[in-house]
Amino acid sequence: MKQFCCCDVVPGCTASFRSPHEDRILQAVAEHARHEHGIHDLPPHLLSRVRSLIHDLPSS
Ligand SMILES: [Zn+2]
Repeated sequence: MKQFCCCDVVPGCTASFRSPHEDRILQAVAEHARHEHGIHDLPPHLLSRVRSLIHDLPSS
């Protein structure tokens, strides 16, 4: 399972995303960014930032 916390990019945002698939997380983040942060298209540098901040959760 992978996880991404929006707070790693947007301080104070409490949204976090979990999925076994990085693509799903990126998709959810893109939607979240659009609705919550008014970012309609994630610029490439932000996308790669998000990608680099996605981390694996220990499976339990
Ligand atoms: Zn956010």
